[in-house]
Amino acid sequence: MQRHAAAAGLGNAIIINTCAVTGEAVRQAMQAIRRARREHPAARIVVTGCAAQAEPERFAEMAEVDHVIGNADKTLGATWAALAVSGSPRMQVADIMAVRETAGHLAAGYGTRSRAFLQVQTGCDHRCTFCIIPFGRGPSRSVPARAVVTEVRRLVDAGYAEVVLTGVDMTSYSSDLPGEMRLGRLVRQVLRHVPDLKRLRLSSIDQMEVDADLMVAIAEEPRLMPHIHLSLQAGDDLILKRMRRRHLRQDAIRFCANARRIRPDIAFGADLIAGFPTETEAMFERSLDLVDACGLAYLHIFPFSPRPGTPAARMPQVARPAVKERASRLRRKGAEALQRHMAARVGRTFDVLMERHGAGHAPDFTEIEVAGVPAGQIARVRAAAVSGGRLVGEGFRAEGSK
Ligand code: SF4
Repeated sequence: MQRHAAAAGLGNAIIINTCAVTGEAVRQAMQAIRRARREHPAARIVVTGCAAQAEPERFAEMAEVDHVIGNADKTLGATWAALAVSGSPRMQVADIMAVRETAGHLAAGYGTRSRAFLQVQTGCDHRCTFCIIPFGRGPSRSVPARAVVTEVRRLVDAGYAEVVLTGVDMTSYSSDLPGEMRLGRLVRQVLRHVPDLKRLRLSSIDQMEVDADLMVAIAEEPRLMPHIHLSLQAGDDLILKRMRRRHLRQDAIRFCANARRIRPDIAFGADLIAGFPTETEAMFERSLDLVDACGLAYLHIFPFSPRPGTPAARMPQVARPAVKERASRLRRKGAEALQRHMAARVGRTFDVLMERHGAGHAPDFTEIEVAGVPAGQIARVRAAAVSGGRLVGEGFRAEGSK
């Protein structure tokens, strides 16, 4: 977007890429728009992203906003060129449910000097009852494997040591493409055709959709990092059903046990929602004890907040104080799990990708501080201690990775 805006002569425009995932995210986006206008009275303000896609009128009604553009339009140069012409429409938001393009959204984001994110899939065909995302991103669309391989090669040539494949519902990769290519085959093709890629990582996946090839890749590909972030959401079967998730508690536990059996150094992260409608204390405790049952190390906790327009917003709600209290108990549980995970790594040696000066991530995504090692290198680090909530490493043998 930045590139297209600059090319259209809108380099000074303020682009606000909104998130719709919770009501709070939308509120914050509106606040950011008002602040941007206060601080830059003369700037052109363009609002896009999922909240703008799902509720374009709500943003177009704001006096602070000059243009609202949809998710399918925001990555097209023509959209930005049209905005530069005077009298251009205030709102350009296509019907995201009708979008069928495949490679258009292939987008690399550069997290740090050493790690790049590559979006290989977007949109979602599921309808979890709490989620607004399909209405912001549209149906599932995948980037053909050949384009993914080409882009990974380009990123490696540009000096990136690690590429993270991302998507909204990445395990549905290729459901819209001809042929038998699933996520596992994509991973294996990327690794085979880009031999200089040092590390490949996956962002969040749905364990129910993991294919046999991906399991083989987890077991056999040392360059596929032993770290999986799971979309678990809850530990109680009735709540999972009311969320319209496609797994049960035992499926999650079994998946983690299997993955750990074939790749013993693997670590798991997970998203969990606290206080979903109708959740009782006993049901919530099943989310709490899922952390140990699966052996999770990194938790992303979301206190449930009803998203207008979703079925869950119409279900009987848990009182706000209870939602907050459960979220903070889950966060405490997460902090303990992380502490335990780090303590178990003390004394072991890892190849750490330094993403900034003095800190980086081990293959299993454990963050390690190592004084004096510059960003961009893969350093051999011995984890020495847990200090101040961080794993601290010492001694290294750096390999140039850039
Ligand atoms: S699978 Fe993920 S993106 Fe799709 S509806 Fe469910 S929570 Fe939303």
